[in-house]
Amino acid sequence: MPETAEQLYARVGGALRMPPVDEWETFPFEGDMRPRSLAPPAEVDAPRRGASGVDCDQCTPTDDEFFWTNERWRLRALGPTGLPFVAILEPREHYAEPGDLPDELAAELGLLQARIERAIRGLGNIGRVHVCRYGDGGEHLHWWFIARPARLPQLVGSFVAIWDDILPPVPEEIWRDDVSRVAAALS
Ligand SMILES: [Zn+2]
Repeated sequence: MPETAEQLYARVGGALRMPPVDEWETFPFEGDMRPRSLAPPAEVDAPRRGASGVDCDQCTPTDDEFFWTNERWRLRALGPTGLPFVAILEPREHYAEPGDLPDELAAELGLLQARIERAIRGLGNIGRVHVCRYGDGGEHLHWWFIARPARLPQLVGSFVAIWDDILPPVPEEIWRDDVSRVAAALS
């Protein structure tokens, strides 16, 4: 069994390591840095937005906030973003964790992840589409599709989500056209 939060906190003491970020081409920042000290454990994890479906801002929107939907899933585009394309796939019904999905929905999720990844990659000039689930913000299950541009080696890997906030947004006209093209590829 993994350590408790108290065990981990006690093991850390003050001994946090600083990885060699100055050697990492993908690290978005430079200058002197040190790890932020680790705060002591909380009693419990803070409840997420929309916990148990109460005041859930992913249950309430109408379909016009999404650029593709079917009877069970809805897909929204975030943007214009710094990266070429960022979208979020959500089940219509409120599920919290991937393991909470009934088998039928989980199976359809697998198909949709492949179709959506292919549709975004098909825009062109895309180096990779990362398909991710974090789930520490809103409780309503949602999957990220984060497309990075091709041929910009600093933007590979997991720091791309931070680069998205650093890069200036894609021109609105280009972004709207790309949303339409992904929607058309999925329909
Ligand atoms: Zn919800």
